[in-house]
Amino acid sequence: MTDPERSINRAAVIGAGTMGAGIASLLASAGVHVDLLDIVPDALTPDEIGQGLELSDPRVRNRIAENGWSMVRASKPASDIPPEAVARVSIGNVEDDLDRLRQANWIIEAVVEDLAAKRQIMTSIEMARVPGSLVSTNTSGLPLREILKGRSQELGRHFLGTHFFNPPLTMKLLEIIPGPLTDHTLVEFITGFAERQLDKGVVVCKDTPNFIANRVASVQSSFDMDYVLTNGYTVEEADEILGPIVGRPNTAIFRLRDLVGLDVSTRVAENLYRAIPHDEFRDILIRPRLSALRTAMVERGLLGRKTGGGFYRALKSPGGRRFLPLDLQTLEYGVPQTIDLPTLTLAKEIDEVAERLRFLVSRNDRVGDLVWASLSNVMAYAAYCLPEIADELHPIDKAFRWGYSWQLGPYEIWDALGVPSTLARLKRDGMLIAGWVDEMLGAGHEGFYKTIDGLSYAYSPIEKDYLPVESGR
Ligand code: NAD
Repeated sequence: MTDPERSINRAAVIGAGTMGAGIASLLASAGVHVDLLDIVPDALTPDEIGQGLELSDPRVRNRIAENGWSMVRASKPASDIPPEAVARVSIGNVEDDLDRLRQANWIIEAVVEDLAAKRQIMTSIEMARVPGSLVSTNTSGLPLREILKGRSQELGRHFLGTHFFNPPLTMKLLEIIPGPLTDHTLVEFITGFAERQLDKGVVVCKDTPNFIANRVASVQSSFDMDYVLTNGYTVEEADEILGPIVGRPNTAIFRLRDLVGLDVSTRVAENLYRAIPHDEFRDILIRPRLSALRTAMVERGLLGRKTGGGFYRALKSPGGRRFLPLDLQTLEYGVPQTIDLPTLTLAKEIDEVAERLRFLVSRNDRVGDLVWASLSNVMAYAAYCLPEIADELHPIDKAFRWGYSWQLGPYEIWDALGVPSTLARLKRDGMLIAGWVDEMLGAGHEGFYKTIDGLSYAYSPIEKDYLPVESGR
């Protein structure tokens, strides 16, 4: 049951960086008034000095929030929001404007990914808010129970994680993470609000390291990169093989790393490694060859788009932009190559992604080997992560579809390939397979999903039976 008295017409977002300003644009587009606050600068810029401004001037005190908001508004997709939505956002700072939190139905913390900073801001939020208002953190993976430490029971009941994906305005996935004390009616309420008013696809997660999407995808992307390195594929070959042809976006492996920033993805992988000592797949995150490559690239400043080059370097030429690929052995940029692999040519003739995947993994060549290696790792890891990160399997598929634009999630891929034969092949390869998959097949079930009378059901490893997909959310 959701609370019929609860509504959201005014929000406060604290932290006006990439995510906070992005969340403000999303909420404002949905008709919500937003106070967007950031810290107060401790020094004047040369421009401010030139204008004769002082540190006490509101234009200076709000400068960081103003800049964050302007940056997001200047770039797509937030640049497209209408003027009436822009007018719903009011800029401020956390020293002069915390009293505005009293009017907010929903307060979203989106400051830097640092436990001390998040704890400190939670103390301020607790002092400024009115009891009953909803408070959430946009952490990428810090434990909610740690962020909440020292706060009141009342705040705890109204506190949860809302993990938006970047950019919040357009990315479908929203991970909602109940905290240790969260009132379950609030989870229902915010899920409904996000689905209906914000057009999000919600996946409710447990409070485990990096939640669902980033947990599985960090191991998946690290595995893919290490396999490519170890087996001598080029950056362009790998992106051609693990892109749209296997039902993933054309950012594939290396273009996506360039977009995220190699420093960021490396930090995520290393933090995750430390946070999951029990996880038998975790060494994948820091395999020696991969770690050496990351270190060398970070040292040279090859972080991706933000430094002008990572796995690719964009070059302006008379015929338009060209992307020079990085040689993974020499770390020098080469000349773009046309990838001409017969298996890819044949696969492109196949319209349906499930059929294409079956064809690709049947090929005994460089393409087939990489596709099978990548799929087998993500399927095995998705199975291994249950029930630690989710009680049901379909949230993992949704996380990949909504968070990373894969056409099929790991279990849907496994179903497409055929579970019994795929399991047998994985075992022949010596993959670590979660016992519940064997148990499922042993009970006579042959797939993770089935449709009965037009309704979708997914196998539940806990109930050892199929449950309607929507009921498990
Ligand atoms: P960012 O560095 O772009 O912005 C953080 C903002 O917080 C800065 O403007 C900073 O001045 C402000 N800030 C720091 N301390 C503050 C305080 N005490 N009070 C008020 N403001 C303060 O960071 P971001 O990428 O927007 O990330 C914010 C959060 O969202 C992090 O927890 C991050 O892990 C998470 N996240 C980021 C992404 C992404 O793709 N960038 C995606 C999902 C989640």
